[in-house]
Order: sequence, then structure tokens, then C-alpha cells
Amino acid sequence: MPVDLARISLQEAALLLQSRAISAVELTQFFLDRIAALNPQLNAYITVDAAGALLGARLADARLAAGTATPLTGIPLAVKDLFCTQGLRTTCASRMLADFIPPYESTVIRRLREAGMVILGKSNMDEFAMGSSNETSFFGPVCNPWDTRRIPGGSSGGSAAAVAAGLCVAALGTDTGGSIRQPAAMTGITGLKPTYGRVSRYGMIAFASSLDQAGPMTRTVADAALLLQGMAGHDPLDSTSIDQPVADYAAQLQSGEEALACLRGLRIGIPQEYFIEGVSAAVRQALQAAMATFTEMGAICQPVSLPCTDYAISTYYIIAPAEASSNLARYDGIRFGYRCQQPVDLLDMFARSRSEGFGAEVKRRIMLGTYVLSSGYYDAYYRKAQKVRRLIADDFHAAFGQVDLLLTPTAPETAFRIGEKDADPVKMYLSDIFTINVNLAGLPALSLPCGFDAHNLPIGMQLIARPLQESLLLTAGHGYQQVTDWHKRSPL
Ligand code: GLN
Repeated sequence: MPVDLARISLQEAALLLQSRAISAVELTQFFLDRIAALNPQLNAYITVDAAGALLGARLADARLAAGTATPLTGIPLAVKDLFCTQGLRTTCASRMLADFIPPYESTVIRRLREAGMVILGKSNMDEFAMGSSNETSFFGPVCNPWDTRRIPGGSSGGSAAAVAAGLCVAALGTDTGGSIRQPAAMTGITGLKPTYGRVSRYGMIAFASSLDQAGPMTRTVADAALLLQGMAGHDPLDSTSIDQPVADYAAQLQSGEEALACLRGLRIGIPQEYFIEGVSAAVRQALQAAMATFTEMGAICQPVSLPCTDYAISTYYIIAPAEASSNLARYDGIRFGYRCQQPVDLLDMFARSRSEGFGAEVKRRIMLGTYVLSSGYYDAYYRKAQKVRRLIADDFHAAFGQVDLLLTPTAPETAFRIGEKDADPVKMYLSDIFTINVNLAGLPALSLPCGFDAHNLPIGMQLIARPLQESLLLTAGHGYQQVTDWHKRSPL
């Protein structure tokens, strides 16, 4: 059977490249053609770098010929448009940075380029990664390839849509409160948020620095392992990066048999607070079925409690905007980024550059953040939120005294319609109710497909592990994908 390149996994693509059955240039050209055909409807990419990608592909072919290739050499990648890419426009989906060409490379991109990956372009996202639906982008919303009237999730919605629609082999996302996992769930792909500090944040445009973390968005768990391998590791340029060796994620996954063996006796906790009102019947059923599958594979599912779950959204919407208001203070119209026309004086330039350069959601966050940090309210809001953050982390710690992994829905419902939650920010914020806690606690978590609803929209489940236990997450997810085929379905 001829290989369908649009559905190919990273693992399969690497084998084709290494056996020279296809060249990196051919593979790259295939995706560039597909992007040209499908991106006008989906809007998954803000910038396509055909010339840069083909150049990268030629270099990759030379390495493949010379025998110096890595498993990532020649693999076409979509990059969320908040990783600084030297010489390639990086907009953060904002008017503020619509013309910004970074003078330096982010660490993740440097590592992946050194491994030989081919960057197809920069994918669409919510402005400054603030959103759950990819509707706040200055460059327009992204459509979900499963139903183009619906959102792909956010903020890494362009990366998710690109993977689901076969407009790349794999993609990079970032996750501050769910932005890798929630769009992965909405588009039927696999997304991993690593432990805070596992992947360097250097050169990632900051949203909330104590929560931001980059990770892989792929078609399979095994692919996520390969891509994470290329991304992870200590970086002296990021003081929060963890100085510990990176496990050999990919090698640990090689045998499906071993993955299954590892599931036997594994204790999986089901947080009771996550099966609340607002979780759709289809999501509930899919999760029940996933629990049954894990049980059949020999795992033991048992209830656990995370009592502070209710406070996560409020805590996050104090801490994240507080950090954002500080991080976004640098956009003042002076050094770089958008500058208003004909300012009358300096103050007018600051004020108008910021009010014209930022969209409504970003301004809402800056105002919220400035408010909670202001001297009269700091103790009541920011300090209290920090204390609750600790209680939330303590809940997880206690749960991990009883179980090895947690299993939850990734999002309460499947993809909603474009425009459906626009008018009500709180409704929008609730889409991340199951993912935000994980960022507050700094833990690694994986979202993977576990079913479909009656509208043929994908459903995602989330596995959460102790800090630095990405290997266990990947093994459990890989084991699940050995016995299920949800991840193999495709919208196009
Ligand atoms: N949806 C959440 C927010 O708007 C999380 C975004 C993210 O993870 N970048 O803040």
C-alpha cells in the first residue's frame, strides 16, 4: 500500500528518510503543497517559510547521505509563533509584533535545527497565548479540521490543526494553563506538557513565566517521545531550567510489549472532583471506556481526591495575568514592536502604541494583572493566590502518595463553535478547568485521543504524573495506543 504522507507519523517518516525511500526535499515539498492547498481554509499557519524549509531539507538530505542524521533529521515541523526564530518573523499572533523579526534563536529551535528538523513555518495561536479557542489571534481564527465551523482549541490551535490536517509531521506548542493539551484534545492528536523546567523557555515570548512550558504536539505518543527528546534538557540561559539528565524517552518506548508490561499493576487515580456538572455525557462515557481499557491491560483504577480543584481557575486568573502584566510591560513602542502614528509626546506614544497594538483579551489580562498587583490589593489577591497555589500542589502530592498516575478528561466538552463563547470570558476560562491545576503544580501531563462524540468530534483524556516522570506518562500513553486506534482517525 502506498504511504499516505499526510497521515505519516514522525517515526514512520524517520524510517522512510533513513532508508532513503524519500528525500527530505520531497517530504518538505509535499507539505508545502498541502499547506498551499488547505491553509486558506484552516488558517493554521501565520507564516510559511518555503525557501527556509527547502534549504533546511537540502541540508538534511546531505546529513542523511553522510550518515550523520538524527531521528529528527529532515522531519517537517510547524512552530507555534511565539518561539523566536532568528531571521523569521515571530508575531505571537499580535499586531504588536506583526513585523518582528527576532535577532536571536530560542533554545528549543536551536536544538531542533541542530538535530536537522525542517521548519515549515509559524503556526497561528491566540494572541500572546491568551485564550482557549484561537479566536483572539490578530491574524484571524483557526478552523478545526474536523468541522471548520468549530474552534481547534487554544492557544496552540494552529499547531493542533496543522498536525490533525496533515499540514506537518509534528508541531511545537506551549502550555501555560492547557494550551498544548486542550487543543490536542479538540483536534484528536497527542500533546505533552512537560514538567516545569524540563524544556528551556529561553527565546519563548513570555506570557506567565512561572507557568509557561513548551512541548510536542504529534500524531502518536511515540512521536511525542522523539520530539521531546530533541527539545528537553538543561539550559544555562534559563534560570528555571532543571539541571538533571534527560531520560531516553524514545528508547524506553521501543517495544509495545514492554509498554503493556509496565501497565500491569500500575495504580491510576481518578480525581473525583473532575467528574463534575458541565462535563458532557460523551466525555464521561469516553473516560469510562478508557478506564475499562486500562483495567483490562492490568492497571488498577481507584478514586482519589484533589479537594482544592475548585480554586484553580480563580488562582490561575490572578497569577497568570499578574505575571503577564509585568512581562508585557516591555511593549512600549520604543525598542521594538508596534509604534502608533505621530505621537504628540512620550506618554501618548506609550498609551496609543499599547492600546492599538494589543487586542481586547490581552488588555483585559493586563488590567486584571495590574489590579491584583497594586499595593492596596496585593495581599488580598496575589499573595493569597500564591498560598492557594501551594495547596493545589499539595493536593497532587498527597494523591501521588497513593497512585502512580492520574487520569482525567482533558476538557469538559468537545470543540465548540467559533463565536460561541466570545462574549463570556468566564465560560471560555472554564475550558481549562482540568488542565490549569497541572500548570499551577508544575507537573507533566499528556493528552491523547480516547473517543468521539455524536458529531464525530474527538475527545481527549489527560494523564498526569509526578515531576520528571515523563517516561511513565509516555509509556502508559504508548501502551494505550497499542490497543486503541482513536489516534489513527483523521478528519481529511
Ligand atoms: N486558556 C488559558 C489562558 O487563556 C491557557 C492558555 C495557555 O496555556 N497559554 O490563559
